[in-house]
Parts: sequence; structure tokens; C-alpha cells
Amino acid sequence: MSEIRVVFLGAPGAGKGTQATLLRQQASVTHFSTGDVLRRHRIEKTPLGLQAEACMDRGELVPDALIIALVEAELATTSMFVLDGFPRTLSQAEALDTMLATRCMPLTGVLFFDAPRDLLLRRLTARWVNPRTGRIYNTITDPPRAAGIDDDDGLPLEQRVDDTLETATRRLDVYEQQTAPLIAYYTQRGLLTRINAAADIEDVAAQVRATIPALQRMETHR
Ligand code: AMP
Repeated sequence: MSEIRVVFLGAPGAGKGTQATLLRQQASVTHFSTGDVLRRHRIEKTPLGLQAEACMDRGELVPDALIIALVEAELATTSMFVLDGFPRTLSQAEALDTMLATRCMPLTGVLFFDAPRDLLLRRLTARWVNPRTGRIYNTITDPPRAAGIDDDDGLPLEQRVDDTLETATRRLDVYEQQTAPLIAYYTQRGLLTRINAAADIEDVAAQVRATIPALQRMETHR
């Protein structure tokens, strides 16, 4: 099979992680989410995790140099991948181009997951957790029987720090200022395909599936 090397571009809450997981099952690509990797580093209290912590909790980006080194190490081991949450700045995009050019492995496409801001905010703030048991609810897709109250112990649910309205709003502002310019960057390179990410999960998955042949063809033409 032709190689797929794709960036999933889009705001937090656009569903990139969900769709990357689905694509991984269909196209045997490595799914690399910088957010997931950083969260693992935080749990393990590694030096990177400790450095990233404050930025993440404020909804800000972790410094480019840390993220670029992380991705460089990861990409050294794979030639088929979905990048989810990277690049998020122009300098990260340029660093990615350089990394891939060195290995003669250009991107074969960029999928832009487009959804309106009010929907993104609703999705981001939908996650509530029982801090005593770890049970996760989603107020849109899997709500508790009584708002804000755990079904099992009847005590209050809580939001994670970066799911609160304030931090989610900050994450969307940071996306618009620092990441949205990448839409033009990849459009100019003829790599961008828009996905309507406001649709439901199965519909978005069908749109993503429909791009696979083009992602593979691009590779053979380079
Ligand atoms: P995510 O789960 O992708 O929304 O990422 C969670 C947080 O991790 C972000 O709000 C940032 O603080 C950090 N992060 C993830 N990816 C990057 C990146 N490419 N550049 C800078 N910070 C990142």
C-alpha cells in the first residue's frame, strides 16, 4: 500500500483524536498525538512533563523547541503516520517540513477539521468526572441522570482544569492566533482538504475515509 503521512489540523474539540483512532484501524498508520504524549509525561512526572504542566493547565502552548524535539524522536521510527495536535505554529510546521525532507518523506496530505467556535466550546466543556472513582461523563453524548451529580455515589462531579469554560476559551483563542495560519500555509502547498467536523462521528469518519485514495495517490506522484 502507498504510504500515508497526514496532519490532522483543527481546533481543540474538532474530533481529531477520535478520527485518528478510527483511521489507524483502517490504514495501519501510527497515530501520534502530542497532547496524549504530554499527558503521559505529566503522569510519569518526567522533566518534559514537569516543564509542560503549567502551560497546559493555562491552555497555552508548550514551547516549540520541546515539542519539536519530541516529534523528531517519534518520527524517526515510522514512515506512515497521522499527526494529531502537531504542528500548531508556523515554526513547528517549518520544522516538520525540514525533518521530513531530510528523510525524503513529504507529507501526503493535511485534513482540516472545520467546526464553528460555539460547537467546539460546547464539546470541550462537556466532559465531567467523578474525582472519587474516575468515571467520565459527557454532557452531550453520555450525561449523568442529574446534572452535575454522579449516578453512583450521588456526589458532585468536577471538570478537569483544561476543560473549564475559562481554559477552553483560552485554548480556542490560542488556536485562532497561532494555529489557524497553518490553513493558508498548507493550502498554498496544495495539501489541504477541508472536512466538515460539525457533523456526527460516523459522518466525519466517512469524509475521512473518502480522502484515503487521494492521500495515497499524492505520495505516488511525488
Ligand atoms: P491537545 O490534547 O492536543 O489539545 O493538547 C493539550 C495541551 O498540550 C495543549 O493545550 C498544549 O498545552 C499542549 N500541546 C499539545 N500539542 C502541542 C503542540 N504541538 N505545541 C505546543 N503545545 C502543545
